[in-house]
Amino acid sequence: MSTLENNKQIITSILERIFGSPKKSGDIKEYEFNCKSRVCRNDEDKYNLAYNSQNHIFHCWKCKYKGHVHKLVSDYGNKDDLDRISLVLPRKKAFKKEERSEEYNDMISCALPEGFKYMSKKSDSKYYKAALRYMTKERGWDLDKIKKHNLGYTENRGNRKYRVVFPSYNEYGQINYYVGRTYYDVVKPSYMGPPKEEVARTEIIFNSKNVNFDIPVFLVEGVFDAACIYNSVPMLGKEPANVIIKKLVEHNTRVVLCLDEDALYDSIEIYNKLSSYGLDVYFVEIPDDIDEFHKANGKQATIELLKTCRKLDFQYMFQKFALKESVKKRDCVDEKGLKSEWEKMKSEILKDQNEHS
Ligand SMILES: [Zn+2]
Repeated sequence: MSTLENNKQIITSILERIFGSPKKSGDIKEYEFNCKSRVCRNDEDKYNLAYNSQNHIFHCWKCKYKGHVHKLVSDYGNKDDLDRISLVLPRKKAFKKEERSEEYNDMISCALPEGFKYMSKKSDSKYYKAALRYMTKERGWDLDKIKKHNLGYTENRGNRKYRVVFPSYNEYGQINYYVGRTYYDVVKPSYMGPPKEEVARTEIIFNSKNVNFDIPVFLVEGVFDAACIYNSVPMLGKEPANVIIKKLVEHNTRVVLCLDEDALYDSIEIYNKLSSYGLDVYFVEIPDDIDEFHKANGKQATIELLKTCRKLDFQYMFQKFALKESVKKRDCVDEKGLKSEWEKMKSEILKDQNEHS
């Protein structure tokens, strides 16, 4: 066998070690593997990743992941694989920049946690009962709402055990994320998503399948808030990820911020940030927490509350915010004083606004 043929076989064996056996095809130059990108890894036996053994180039027709075989091996292989391939094939500089399809984030998919079961399927297990008790008694959900949101739960195994699980769906109806909330108070942390290697919260839009970005979108903090507001996106963190901002900007979406009362300072920063992208941003002052408000007052009252969304003189508020920060730095924090100052300031702004509208 020639050296060239031999080298080709070594490369193919490295790829087989990483990706498993390729699909048999008539063309011996072309191999088809199962793509391992975050978009494609849950597709079983689709063999989307084509590899040409003549020019050592690969591409995935679905997620548009492409490049030289070195990239493939450095992204998914181990150090040994890289050493071996570098011996038989000199490294090419081509395809250095990231090659991804425009819709990459929209197409990401994710596996549900180990032992996931749908709550719509009744069970005698004590874990099912604990999960159901948590959702109905502590959260005030009924079975219809649980079914509507496709909630599931985990039992006593896996690294996401003892959790009510909110699955999230991408625009193609595939699971792209989940949030697991413990149903036993002693289990920490209270909230967990998928492992970061699987998918990070900043890479997806939660339940983007259900969000219409061409009408006003309500930006909320968590999944419980999102479940009580129509056309809402949970940030799953303190600020919206870039993937959310990008989508809002693309659709020039009107945004209504609905953050908990204790996150008012964060709201100001987010308001300013989104406004700086030219977005039309509004703000609802939530007494306490939107999910609690909904539970205590019902759907109609929540709708009425959302209708009170308004623009505020955030420039002024932001200055006050900066003042608070500088006070903090001087190490003499008078939280009580600041809070009353803040309340006074808010009423001033509102008064000022009402006089001018
Ligand atoms: Zn792919």
